[in-house]
Amino acid sequence: MDDHVVGVLGGGQLGRMLVEAANRLNIQVGILDVDSAPAKYLAKSDKHVTGSFANASDVKALASKCDVLTYEIEHVDTKILEELEAGRPYVEGTKWSRFQPSWHTVRTIQDKFTQKQHFAKYAIPISKSTAASSSQQGLIDVGDKLGYPFMLKSRTQAYDGRGNFPVKSLSDIGPAISALAERPLYAEKWVHFKMELAVMVVKTAQEDDPDAWEKNTLAYPTVETIHEDSICKLVYVPPRDVSQQVARAAQDLARRAVSTFRGTGVFGVELFLLPDNSLLVNEIAPRPHNSGHYTIEACHMSQFEAQIRAILPDLASKIPAGATELTVKAAMMLNILGGPQPDSHMLVAKAALDVPGAKIHLYGKGEGRPGRKMGHITITGSSLSECEIKMHPLIQMVDAIRV
Ligand code: ATP
Ligand code: MG
Ligand code: MG
Repeated sequence: MDDHVVGVLGGGQLGRMLVEAANRLNIQVGILDVDSAPAKYLAKSDKHVTGSFANASDVKALASKCDVLTYEIEHVDTKILEELEAGRPYVEGTKWSRFQPSWHTVRTIQDKFTQKQHFAKYAIPISKSTAASSSQQGLIDVGDKLGYPFMLKSRTQAYDGRGNFPVKSLSDIGPAISALAERPLYAEKWVHFKMELAVMVVKTAQEDDPDAWEKNTLAYPTVETIHEDSICKLVYVPPRDVSQQVARAAQDLARRAVSTFRGTGVFGVELFLLPDNSLLVNEIAPRPHNSGHYTIEACHMSQFEAQIRAILPDLASKIPAGATELTVKAAMMLNILGGPQPDSHMLVAKAALDVPGAKIHLYGKGEGRPGRKMGHITITGSSLSECEIKMHPLIQMVDAIRV
C-alpha cells in the first residue's frame, strides 16, 4: 500500500495494535523497544531496534531505518527528535515531515502545565490551573487561590493517574508533598464533572491552524469513559444519557483543540462534561488512546489504521469523510487489568470466550501486576443495553479480581 517505513517509539499494546493495522495494509513498521515488547511479536522486521525510546542513540538508530517516525507514548526525549529533524527533516522527495505528529506537539503535551497554557492561549476551555512548588507554604497558597479540593499533578511522566494527588483540605498537603516530592508540579481546580467523555480525532494536515479544524480534522464518535482509581475501566459508545447536541459539541471542541497542534496522526481528547452540559478539556494524548480501542470493531476504520494512514505522505489526504463513523449502533469496551496473581487477568479473558461476539484482545505482556493493562474486551450490538447484558458478568469478574 505504501513503501515508506514507519518507525514507532515504544512497543507496548498501542504499538502492537498499530502493527496489526499496518500488517493488513502491508506497511512495514520498525519498533524501538526491548525484544520482548508486545508489538514485536506480531511482525518480524529488520527495521526493529532493540533499546529504549529514552535513549538517544537508539532513537537515532530507528530514525536511520525508517522514513516516518511516530510515538505510542508521549514521554520521549524531544531534544533528540529536534536534532534529527535538523539533520533530515523531510521524507525524501517531499515536504512531509518525518516526525508525525511534530516533536513540538509532543513537547507541549508531555508537560501537562505547558499543555494547559497552550490551551489557554487558544481559548480552549480548561479547568483553572496554576504553577505549584512542593513546599508546604506553596501549596497553602495554591489552596487559597483555587479553593479545596484541588488536584495536585505532576507536570511530566504522568499516566493512569500516577502523578495525581487530590488535595481535599489543608491536612492533605503533607501527604501530597510526600507522594509527589521530586516531581515538577502544578495544580488544577477540582472539576465537579457529571461524566468523563473522550473523542479520538484524526488530523490529516501538517500545519497547526485553529481556523481550519473543520477541514483538517475528523472526529470519531464521542464516548463515555469510566475511571476507577484513575485508570480507565470502561468505555460506553454512545455515552449514556448524553444528547446528540452535547456529543456533537464534544466532537467539535476536540477537533478545535487538536487543530492547534502541528503534525498529523490521531489524538485522544479527554473531556469533562459539567452539570450544565458545558465541556472542559482534561488532557490530550498525541497518539492512539485507550478510549479509542472500540474503533477496531465498531468503526469503518480503527484508530490504529487512522494513525498509520494519517502519518504517511501519500495516504493522509485519502481518508474519506465517514471513515470514523460507527458501523454498529453501540459498543462497550472493558479493560483487563492485572490482579493479585500473575495470571489473574486470564480469568476474565477466558470467561469472555463464553460470551458470543465478545472480541478479546490480549497484549502479550507476560505476567500481570495489579493495575497493569493486560488486554481488553469489546462488545458491539444494536443497543447499549444489549452490550451491557453481555458485558455484565465480565465486569463482575474484573471487580472480583480487583478486590
Ligand atoms: P491518563 O492515563 O489518562 O494519561 P493521567 O495520569 O494523565 O491519566 P489525568 O487524565 O490528568 O491523569 O487524570 C486522571 C483522572 O483523574 C481523570 O480521568 C479524572 O477522573 C481525574 N481528574 C483529573 N483532573 C481532575 C480535576 N481537575 N478535577 C477532578 N478530577 C480530575
Ligand atoms: Mg495523561
Ligand atoms: Mg487522562
